[in-house]
Amino acid sequence: MTGVRYRREGRWRFQRARNVVVAGYAIETPRLRLNSATSRFPQGLANSSGLLGRNLMVQSNQAVWGVLEREVRAYKGPPSLALTEHWNYCDEGKDFFGGYCYMSQGPLPIVWAGAQAKRGLWGRKLLDQMEHYNHQVGLKIVGECLPQERNGVTLTEIKDQYGLPVPRITYSYCDNDRRLIRHALDFMRRALEAAGAREIWEETDDTCHLNGTARMGEDRRTSVVNADCRCWDIPNLWVCDGSVFPTVGGVNPSLTIQAIACRTADRIKALAARGEL
Ligand SMILES: Cc1cc2nc3c(=O)[nH]c(=O)nc-3n(C[C@H](O)[C@H](O)[C@H](O)COP(=O)(O)OP(=O)(O)OC[C@H]3O[C@@H](n4cnc5c(N)ncnc54)[C@H](O)[C@@H]3O)c2cc1C
Repeated sequence: MTGVRYRREGRWRFQRARNVVVAGYAIETPRLRLNSATSRFPQGLANSSGLLGRNLMVQSNQAVWGVLEREVRAYKGPPSLALTEHWNYCDEGKDFFGGYCYMSQGPLPIVWAGAQAKRGLWGRKLLDQMEHYNHQVGLKIVGECLPQERNGVTLTEIKDQYGLPVPRITYSYCDNDRRLIRHALDFMRRALEAAGAREIWEETDDTCHLNGTARMGEDRRTSVVNADCRCWDIPNLWVCDGSVFPTVGGVNPSLTIQAIACRTADRIKALAARGEL
């Protein structure tokens, strides 16, 4: 790899580089590399495993909501005020692999009204529901979804304003993901019932966070980058974002993404100091 072609002020330019770090996240990183295919790398840059763009993982983000007799005023706390990791560590009675955390919610009125509209409430019904706003309580998960090769990013025929193909995202839950979500919804419902909530309902169609698509691994045949986030096929090409996750776990991902970025920077520095870059 000799550098990066980029566009600024209406024209394409080239920046020579000894090392290139791609950090575009789980959609744009594979898109960029798939769009950078050459005769030497016809499947996309450094994609001999064929896994670039595959194993995209969302995290499930379902919620259970209810109304308490007493006033709660959940908006006074941060949106995710209290969190438990219980089901990331306890496997008792589970019928699924993996885990989830769940947290209390405090959506602001506009977000709450949007959630109600998505449920089909409008007009008088929406206004009645909003009357309960200060009594609403809710719990929501960040759930682990399993990596599957069929989920991912490919290129379409459609081009953006620079003439580059836009990505197509393909995603569906597997049975394990669905069992995890069912477990979480039932458990959170029990928690709200124990707190005395009524009019309990489930918000089922939500996801959060994207990871995967340039997975890290020990074997170049089954991964895209090594433990240093260095591409197997092109050693001076690095990936430094959430796309390197081989699995997601049941927690928010950003601190791990940052930790991996710091580690990769340390590795680049150490290898450079030893004259190995
Ligand atoms: C509404 C919302 C709430 C969230 N809440 C949380 C949370 O509470 N906790 C948590 O852990 N995570 C949260 N996330 C997820 C979190 O933001 C991401 O996991 C994290 O930012 C990913 O980091 P990254 O470095 O991999 O990618 P990003 O932070 O997305 O960085 C990628 C960068 O690359 C740039 N880029 C992409 N393509 C190109 C290109 N071709 N040329 C130049 N630049 C390019 C993008 O503009 C972007 O700046 C939330 C995300 C959203 C959208």
